[in-house]
Amino acid sequence: MDHVHTIVGVANGDVMEMLRVRGLRMTPQRRAIVSEVMRTRGHISPAAIVRQVQDAMPGVNASTVYRTLSLLEQVGVLQHSHLESGAEYHRSEDAAHVHLTCSSCGSDDALSLGEAESLHALIRTHHGFEADLTHFAIGGLCGRCAKGVAR
Ligand SMILES: [Zn+2]
Ligand SMILES: [Zn+2]
Ligand SMILES: [Zn+2]
Repeated sequence: MDHVHTIVGVANGDVMEMLRVRGLRMTPQRRAIVSEVMRTRGHISPAAIVRQVQDAMPGVNASTVYRTLSLLEQVGVLQHSHLESGAEYHRSEDAAHVHLTCSSCGSDDALSLGEAESLHALIRTHHGFEADLTHFAIGGLCGRCAKGVAR
């Protein structure tokens, strides 16, 4: 199944307000970064945000982008996952899925938490461990690579 993207979520202005409440000055750079993040659906690659923000506003430091992404995670707007390609963010409302990444072709598939429930329950039988299956991707081979079919 593909990623499910919900329509509901926080608006741009709400996010700016959340950051302002934390005493952060909403500089034009930070506004541009927040807008770019809020426009992005599905996986939010930090490197791609840096590229897009720098296209729109030359001179923005990559470190400013990374710091802002991390702040957006602290206020609950974003959540990160570790994928084959590195850490990526999701809007929090899009984050509830388990990543299945193919180590051969690099494809990224997703399992809903409902589909993963029996795995979650199985792990819980081990000393009551509550697994967060969304945080790290499960690596392996996609169906096509496992069958040895060329792409
Ligand atoms: Zn994802
Ligand atoms: Zn992490
Ligand atoms: Zn594959």
